Amino acid sequence: MSFSKLGLSPQILQAISELGYKKPTPIQEKAIPVILKGRDVIACAQTGTGKTGAFVLPILERLKDEPEIRAKRIRVLILTPTRELAIQIEANVKAYSQHLSLTSLAMYGGVDDTSQKEALIAGVDILVATPGRLLDMYTQRAIHFDEIQILVLDEADRMLDMGFIGDINKILERLPEIRQNLLFSATLSPKVRFLAKTAIENAVQITIREKHNKPKINQYLIPIDKDKKSALLSHLITENKWDQALIFIETKRGAAKLVSQLEKRGVKAESFHSGRSQSVRETLLADFKAGTLAYLVATGVASRGIDIDNLNYVINYDLPDQADDYIHRIGRTGRAGATGHAISFVSRDDFRSLCYIEKRLGALIPRKIIAGFEPTKELPESSLKPDNKKFKSR
Ligand code: AMP
Repeated sequence: MSFSKLGLSPQILQAISELGYKKPTPIQEKAIPVILKGRDVIACAQTGTGKTGAFVLPILERLKDEPEIRAKRIRVLILTPTRELAIQIEANVKAYSQHLSLTSLAMYGGVDDTSQKEALIAGVDILVATPGRLLDMYTQRAIHFDEIQILVLDEADRMLDMGFIGDINKILERLPEIRQNLLFSATLSPKVRFLAKTAIENAVQITIREKHNKPKINQYLIPIDKDKKSALLSHLITENKWDQALIFIETKRGAAKLVSQLEKRGVKAESFHSGRSQSVRETLLADFKAGTLAYLVATGVASRGIDIDNLNYVINYDLPDQADDYIHRIGRTGRAGATGHAISFVSRDDFRSLCYIEKRLGALIPRKIIAGFEPTKELPESSLKPDNKKFKSR
């Protein structure tokens, strides 16, 4: 299938071809024709699958002949969990619409709102916003919602994880009733389904078969004693010459401690958690993305908002409590045809979380014992059997 068969105009096709895209990704192939028809869509797709193009390209097609927008109005609202994602999506909008005369803006908190307000005065065709700042602007009457035609809830699961449900509901209540709704989410958890029900009726549901993602992630766990985890990590980093790794850990204190333990063994890492200032976190992310920082030790909570993927190594130094968090984390690796590695350090204390993750995956995670790091406190065998007593205690 080629892009030209999807019903997109020459100006959009030209932009895609200038970006070097040869053919649509599976989510693009499925979603673009349905969105062009004006249908509501609920799509299960992760970052890295080309999902941004899947909604932005047909949106551009639908908007391209609209007259100039009125002051303080927007036509399309793309809600997204983080500032980084807002910036990234808006950059995609700009790239895809470079041969059209549409306007776009990324709007997010944590920065002075003056320039965002100024940009809104003229009206904006496509606004990519984080929920909190958007509501703030709405309350200040810097923006009106009455001309919104299309709503996109991007990374809906992450928005809910980050506690945006209250803001999202307030926004939904204020939108025009007649509109097209598009919801994209890496997982369709019960919370996401509930949100979808509130916002969307009669949607076409699109799921990209897991098959596309699964073989690309080499996922395994290493049974290890808790007090040997940092030695194991520095061993693996140096022994295997890992170029870069994102390491998830449970607490801020744990992150700081691990960084100093690694340093003592000659591995330079940085910690990323809510105790570090916004500007430090931004610099760390930029360095990590640029490859000048090799190892980032992030707490699960802080890392929910960060947008890093295409990594070769994702390490669960601590297992997350929530199985969905595990799926998010490993989804940051194994992109663009390359094989990624998602490695979890599992001590006996983590066994219960492991059981829930494996149950959610519907598969047991392969185990690897590393020579010299054999656990003294044995990790029990996992089992997916429904009558397994381990599942009943939670
Ligand atoms: P996304 O899932 O939207 O974050 O996209 C992941 C990456 O894939 C981005 O760098 C896009 O520019 C790129 N991309 C999106 N669609 C295509 C395509 N059809 N062909 C090649 N690359 C693409």
